[in-house]
Amino acid sequence: MGDRPHVVVLLGAPGAGKGTQGMRLRARAQIAHISTGDLFRDAVRIQSPAGQRAEAYLKSGQLVPDQVVLQLLEEYLVDIETVDVCLDGFPRTYQQAIALEELLFQFNLSIALVLHLYVADSIALERLVDRGRPDDTIETARHRLKVYHAATEPLIKHYDEAGLLSEVDGSGDVEAVESRVWDVVERALCR
Ligand code: AMP
Repeated sequence: MGDRPHVVVLLGAPGAGKGTQGMRLRARAQIAHISTGDLFRDAVRIQSPAGQRAEAYLKSGQLVPDQVVLQLLEEYLVDIETVDVCLDGFPRTYQQAIALEELLFQFNLSIALVLHLYVADSIALERLVDRGRPDDTIETARHRLKVYHAATEPLIKHYDEAGLLSEVDGSGDVEAVESRVWDVVERALCR
C-alpha cells in the first residue's frame, strides 16, 4: 500500500459525536472529513438529483438507499490523492461495508482504523434533541437510534473480526473525547 492515504471510519449512533470529532480531526491533522449526512443535506439544499432522491429519507430518519449513497460517495473518493480520510456516517449497512471494500480496492486505498464512538442511548438522544436539526425531533431521533441498532451496529462485530476496530468512550465533554479519539487515530496512522 506504500504511502497511499488511509481511511478512518467513524462508527457510532447518531448523537455519538462523529460529526464533531470528524471536524476536530480535520482541523488537527489535515485529515479530510467526509460526512455522508452533510453531503446529503447539501444535496437536498441545492436540489441535485441525489438530493431529490434522498430528501424524504432524511426527513423521516430512514436510511437513504445504498445505491444513492454509493454514487454520492464515489464522486468524493475519486479526488482522494494525498490526504488521509475520515468517513463519518458511512458505512451504515453491511451492504455498504462490502461496497466500501470494493471501492477502496478500486482506488488503492485501505482502512487503517474503524473507531467505534460509543455512548448510551439516553446521552445520544439528549444530544440529538439539543442539537435541534430538522431531523432531530424526539420521534425521528428515536427512530434513527432504532435504525442504527438494527442496521449499523452489526458492523462493529464485522470490523472487530477484521482486526480493525477500536472502541472509544464518546461520553463527556468534546475535548475529553477528542483526546481519546486522537490517541487511537495517532497510533493507527503512525502520526
Ligand atoms: P447523519 O448526519 O450522519 O446523521 O445523517 C443524516 C441522514 O442522512 C440519515 O438519517 C440518513 O437519512 C442519511 N444518511 C447519511 N449517511 C447515510 C448512509 N451511509 N446510508 C444511508 N443514509 C445515510
